Amino acid sequence: MRKIWIFLLLSFGSSLVLADQIHVVQKNETLGGIAQKYGVSTSTLQAFNGIANPNLLFVGKKLKIPKNGLSEITYVVKKGDSLGSIASRFKVKLSTLALLNKIDRLNLIKVGQKIIIPVKETIYSPPRSLLSASTLQSLNMIRPHSSKWQRIVIHHSATPVDDAMNMHRVHKARGMKNGLAYHFVISNGSRKAYDGEIYIGGRWRAQLDGGHMKKRSWNQTSIGICLIGNFELRSPTAKQLSALEGLSEYLMKKCRISKSAITTHKILHKNHTVCPGKYFSLPSFLKRISS
Ligand SMILES: [Zn+2]
Repeated sequence: MRKIWIFLLLSFGSSLVLADQIHVVQKNETLGGIAQKYGVSTSTLQAFNGIANPNLLFVGKKLKIPKNGLSEITYVVKKGDSLGSIASRFKVKLSTLALLNKIDRLNLIKVGQKIIIPVKETIYSPPRSLLSASTLQSLNMIRPHSSKWQRIVIHHSATPVDDAMNMHRVHKARGMKNGLAYHFVISNGSRKAYDGEIYIGGRWRAQLDGGHMKKRSWNQTSIGICLIGNFELRSPTAKQLSALEGLSEYLMKKCRISKSAITTHKILHKNHTVCPGKYFSLPSFLKRISS
């Protein structure tokens, strides 16, 4: 666990750390309630104490409470380390480390010696995710053929009300044996799905070519994401855009696709279509994506 914390270390303030407080869990207390009492977040308290399931908190358990938004980790000195190299590695002032560890002679640290390093508590908060836990879980069950996929192409359904299953039937009736032409559909809340819900199509589950572009070579290499709605008439919903952002970032990471390889149907196939409509702005969407 400590190793993970070390890698998560982002930044550090120079103030000194007081010893962690201990809280003994009483009857009827919850982790959230205890976190609130000490002014720290539940996730911090959970991570700090290595609690996997916050619902299984037993009476009498001793919880370490980080003080003043700061806490500490213990680093064991390795061969070749100096206090200076440790300080710079953890972005901590050398004088702070010396003071905190009561080291008067800076060049006198020994291999195996334990050094207390203060860290900001905010590093324990989980990373932001725009994808719901269930979507992420479903996505993670599929192993993408990362070398196959070179770009992400965004489409709209051009229908104000629709759902992925209906599109699947329509595409099948059009003669597509694999049905739904897109790999993903993001709902606008019409019909059965909720606003921003991501439908994972059969073509993504089986890592099949898309059917969303005219050229075969494009279908073989492009991940097709369709947002339900007619964006010639109105904008996508805020939740659709967040879902698209989360999904794009996920796919970029999994398939090593760069931000410059996120495009739209009309940009890729000029003078052929207006898809995904004039109210979908690719430049403003790309501003949301971290490269
Ligand atoms: Zn399209």
